[in-house]
Amino acid sequence: MAGEVQLVHLLDGIGEDAATEVRKCLFGLELQQLTELVHEFGHKPYRARQLAQALYRDWVSELTEVTTWPKELQAEACRAGYGIGLPKISQVFTSIDGTERYLVRVSGGQTVETVWMPDGDGGVPDEDEDEVVGADTGQPEDRMASGHRRGRPPQIYRRATICVSSQIGCAVNCQFCLTARLGIERNLTAGEIAGQVVAVLKRQKIKVGRDRINLVFMGMGEPFLNYEAFMDAVRLLVKEVHIPESRMTVSTSGILPGIERFGKEPVRPKLALSLNASNNGVRETIMPITRKWPIEQLLAAIQQMPRQPRDRVTFEYVLLGGVNDRVEHADEVIQLLRNANLPAYINLIVWNPGPGIAYSQPQPEDVDRFQKRLMAGGVKAFIRRPRGRDIYAACGQLKRTSEVAGV
Ligand code: SF4
Repeated sequence: MAGEVQLVHLLDGIGEDAATEVRKCLFGLELQQLTELVHEFGHKPYRARQLAQALYRDWVSELTEVTTWPKELQAEACRAGYGIGLPKISQVFTSIDGTERYLVRVSGGQTVETVWMPDGDGGVPDEDEDEVVGADTGQPEDRMASGHRRGRPPQIYRRATICVSSQIGCAVNCQFCLTARLGIERNLTAGEIAGQVVAVLKRQKIKVGRDRINLVFMGMGEPFLNYEAFMDAVRLLVKEVHIPESRMTVSTSGILPGIERFGKEPVRPKLALSLNASNNGVRETIMPITRKWPIEQLLAAIQQMPRQPRDRVTFEYVLLGGVNDRVEHADEVIQLLRNANLPAYINLIVWNPGPGIAYSQPQPEDVDRFQKRLMAGGVKAFIRRPRGRDIYAACGQLKRTSEVAGV
């Protein structure tokens, strides 16, 4: 009886608030690691499979919710210092466009940013919309198919995008980006990266497999400067959470060794290069990393990556008024891609203003002209709709601000 009281007391201590402070996080461990762990506790491998199901499919927050485990095993894991450790959403900012920006608490009490971009406004879909529809990530397929599945309640999102962070802060120092102002604080673990996704899926009551979800690794940080944890998170999300890698895109500022390594991965998301300039001179001024790895080297590395015949590479291009948005810049981009012989899409992103950053937004007519020039040169170009600008959730605005913008 005394033992039972002690057990109940121990399990009471595994509250959700304590979850991000546990000494050893279970969330983030792959099946093999879980198998070794339960073996240490003297249990059979099927207990690891049960735990994986609880962590990655049932999205439990506390050990006591692993109901397939006997209480004794839950307590044993707790005594050994283990807890679930699923990152927790600690603050939510909601935009007028439906976007939600989250501060997600990770271990050590630090926060990182994650953004949810739902599709549509719940209105009646247009006649010509495809059956399956979704968030406009700027990806071409989203432009071709957007909206809600007909006949389903509009509040159920059928396709949405989660923008995920890979580091706290960033060391790359792109001059137009608010995250750069933080500097780099630390890398996130695989569990903290995949955990952002699960925390948002849980909040939004998403059913993986029924609801189509896109993941973009374009939040805070440079994923290829936290390569192992980023790829471990991708594998977890594919194998255990069951989100296919074809629904994921990772954006890099141009970390050459990372691109080369990524090209050899058997399972990998789609790649986007954050190009942002048509020549090294302009790119160096806005992305100093260009001095280390110039554009031509990056394009050559991407060229070498194995691709399926229909695969295209995505280039992100943040338009800064008067800096990189002239017609001659568009012509240079066309030439660059021709020289590299790369089938490509370009996502044009109108720069999102941030406090203390001395760039200006391009004029709408300049954006239009830039896109038309690219298209006339045979380059498929799309203009990304800004999301969550009023809550500092848009591209380049993530800096863990607890304010909303005065716009
Ligand atoms: S744009 Fe991306 S890579 Fe560049 S500083 Fe910002 S977070 Fe880092």
